[in-house]
Amino acid sequence: MLLSLAARFRAAIAHVRTHDCLLCGAPGAPERVCAGCAGDLPPLPASCPVCALPNPDAAVCGACLRAPPAYDATVALWRYEFPLDRLVHALKYQGRLPVARLFGEALARRTARREVDAIVPMPLARRRLADRGFNQALEIARAAAAARRLTPAATAVERIRDTANQADLPLGERARNVRGAFACRGDVRGRRVAVIDDVMTTGASLGELAACLKRTGAAWVENWVVGRTLPRDV
Ligand SMILES: [Zn+2]
Ligand SMILES: [Zn+2]
Repeated sequence: MLLSLAARFRAAIAHVRTHDCLLCGAPGAPERVCAGCAGDLPPLPASCPVCALPNPDAAVCGACLRAPPAYDATVALWRYEFPLDRLVHALKYQGRLPVARLFGEALARRTARREVDAIVPMPLARRRLADRGFNQALEIARAAAAARRLTPAATAVERIRDTANQADLPLGERARNVRGAFACRGDVRGRRVAVIDDVMTTGASLGELAACLKRTGAAWVENWVVGRTLPRDV
């Protein structure tokens, strides 16, 4: 009884707080982030259209020319740094699901002119899904797909083995860690697929998933990500 009262009290407090800006606490932010804080989210400079890393004139970068990744394009909304990292953390580790709607709607606006006919969320390792209770990429995909009148193809791909958390590994080991991690089951043959993820760091998971989708017959695979981690020296 005591526990349930405490839980209800916490839920009530959480409800009140969802009306405040998630970044500065200003009251009455209808999008969960006030206009001032939304303007503070760090934009990406001119970037390679394939990997979304900074490149003058927004041309395809040397790395993508030399070794083209399995995905055809990447759309990234912001640089993954302060204060965007706080929002991503609020979503993933505090379960603030309204953040996913904000991200998904922003992705849908940015990609309004891009032609895709399937939206696939990056699947979460089963163990992590059990811990967290939700897949943040699926929550973002739901909001983005709704704006496109599509349904996220949440069962099109599956993680067939639980890999170590990419964030815990050195950058050079991440590609090997995710090799063979996915199985593509949905019918993506001939389709133009957008893969949704919260943050793109090395692009190893996205590359592996795109390769899997292409092997299954996808005609085109592009990444829609909220945050792009930039190398320190850029
Ligand atoms: Zn604010
Ligand atoms: Zn590139």
